[in-house]
Parts: sequence; C-alpha cells; structure tokens
Amino acid sequence: AGAPRPTFRFAPSPNGRLHLGHAYSALLNADLAARTGGRVLLRIEDIDPARSRPELVDAIMSDLAWLGLRFEAPVRHQSQHMQAYRDARDRLIARSLAYPCFCTRGDVRVATEGSAARDPDGAPLYPGTCRGLPPEAAAARRAAGAPHAWRLDMARALATESGTHGYADLALSSPAERGGEGVSHETFRVADPVRWGDAVIARRDVPTSYHLAVVVDDAHQGVTHVVRGRDLEAATDLHVLLQALLGLPTPRYHHHALILGPDGGKLAKSKASESLADLRARGDTAEAIRATLGFA
Ligand code: GLU
Repeated sequence: AGAPRPTFRFAPSPNGRLHLGHAYSALLNADLAARTGGRVLLRIEDIDPARSRPELVDAIMSDLAWLGLRFEAPVRHQSQHMQAYRDARDRLIARSLAYPCFCTRGDVRVATEGSAARDPDGAPLYPGTCRGLPPEAAAARRAAGAPHAWRLDMARALATESGTHGYADLALSSPAERGGEGVSHETFRVADPVRWGDAVIARRDVPTSYHLAVVVDDAHQGVTHVVRGRDLEAATDLHVLLQALLGLPTPRYHHHALILGPDGGKLAKSKASESLADLRARGDTAEAIRATLGFA
C-alpha cells in the first residue's frame, strides 16, 4: 500500500486559551503537512476532569479557525476514550510492568525529603515505596477501596524491552532552517527513559496519565510525525519506551523552540504571555500573527 500519508497532530489541553506558543505549534504542523502532502489531526487532551473546561474547547476551535487552520473530523477528545487507555494500562499490569501506588503527594514528599534525584519535569524521583508491597497486601488495599495510581516498573520495563530506545528526529529548529528542506533531514536520537523512574501511567482519578494517553492516541490516530514544543522533549524518551512495551509504532518527532520570532529569536515576554484572544481584541490580525511567527 506504500508509505502512509504523513499524519501530524495538534493536541492542546483545554485548561486555558491558546497563546502564541500554541499558534506556532499549530502553524508549524500545518506548514509541514502542506510541504509533505500530509494532514493534521486535532486532539483535545482533556483527561484532567478538574482542569479541563468544555467552554474552552469551543474557544480553542474558534482561535484555530481564526488563524486559518482547518482540521479533519472527527476531532478526538481524550475524555471519550478512557476505555482505550484502561485497556493499555491493564495490558501493562497483566505483564507485571506496572504496580499500584497508594502514596499521597504528602507521602512522596516525606519519602523524598533530602533527595536530589529529580525527573525531567523537576519532580522528586519516586523512590519506589509501593513497588515492594507484597501483591496480597496491595490487592487487599485495592479491594478495600484505597485510592491508588499505577506506576510503570521502570526496571522491569527496561529488562523486557532491553534494546536501545530512540527515535528519528526531524532536524528542523527554526523557520530559517525549515526553508525548502521539507522534513527530509533526520537524525536518530537515543532515548533515556530511565530518568523518569517509575512514572505514573494511570492517575488516581482517571485510568491514564498524559504519557499513556498520548502514546495510545498517536498510534490510534495513525500519527506519523509528532511536532511539539521542546518542553515535551524529555517526555518522548518515556513515550518511545511505552510504544515498545505496547507494540505500537514510534512516529518521527520534532521538538520546536518554544516561541520564535521571524528572525528565530525569542518574542517579547509580554506578547508571548498574551492569549490569541487578547491579541485579537487588541486589533492584531491573523495575518500579522502568522507573519510574527514566521509563517508569511
Ligand atoms: N496537551 C499537551 C499540551 O497542551 C501537548 C501534548 C503533545 O503534543 O504531546 O501541552
């Protein structure tokens, strides 16, 4: 059937209005899709019941339409696919690659006091307190209704998938570098998932975490190219391990600089922190925003 059509995605979380950084990411995905004869899918990352606000989904759609971006239907809303994440979680549990964690935030704080070990998000590395719980004890606590998350057993996961982990990285980092090159430049990046420690794959309140849902969805949506901000670059190391464990394909990745001006430099902080809605209300046009971000 030949190579699949390049499939990109833009995956905002509806817990605030879109900013210039989101606009840059969405426009870059659209630009790369156009260069490669591909498409861009939209995914609403609303797994967090406390932070996701439905009215913001409409606002996000309207901001994207204002920028001139159109997405294929149907839009995937993560909150409607909890069963898919639960299934993936349960596959990891069934292979003893995940264990229940009953620790509260306070427990983790106490257990990591004085430890300098941090995960790439800057959180104290989980010391594995619940990993050593006897299975009967853990089962009894679950049966009694004790709230628990599920954590990846990193050591077991790496023993199960013991090869080198990594991904093809599209070597594009600024509008200037993008010029004319399409997405043909690639370098292989070695991933280092161990620095995440026993990462949470399912939270207490929902049967997934960001990491698990994004991996399940990228595969389900047939995403071949993940283009997102550099703030998520370290997360990719964990994502490629989850893909290997779940037998899912690893897309190509590119992690773009957070916000770039037309010269590849940082935009003024004030402008960067304003929402598209603010800029629009102030009289900025979509054309001006696109030009500011280097998409003339
Ligand atoms: N939902 C994430 C965000 O808004 C992006 C996730 C991704 O692109 O993988 O930052």
